[in-house]
Amino acid sequence: MKPCCDRMKEELERTCAHGHAPSECPDVLIAYVAKVDEFGIRVHDGASSMVRISFCRWCGARLPESKRERWFEELESRGIDPHEHEVPTKFRSDAWYPQTQPKN
Ligand SMILES: [Zn+2]
Ligand SMILES: [Zn+2]
Repeated sequence: MKPCCDRMKEELERTCAHGHAPSECPDVLIAYVAKVDEFGIRVHDGASSMVRISFCRWCGARLPESKRERWFEELESRGIDPHEHEVPTKFRSDAWYPQTQPKN
């Protein structure tokens, strides 16, 4: 995944300086879930929830389509139930789908 702009890159690389978990730190706003290619704004409710965003809030670029459905389909086609079986390493990162360039 290539960030659409420097600001997004900066936000994605932002880490907590006070020892919070990323899901709890008020400084860490943007989350990226590589395995399903989803960007989101973190909701600091103590869990790892986020509100998915479709456009970059800084440069306006359209962010990738979520691959969540395809992720489940691909696993299902291999007879893997992610709730019951161990998810193969490839499917825990962005290694299972072709990389695309962000479009402005
Ligand atoms: Zn923090
Ligand atoms: Zn951007």
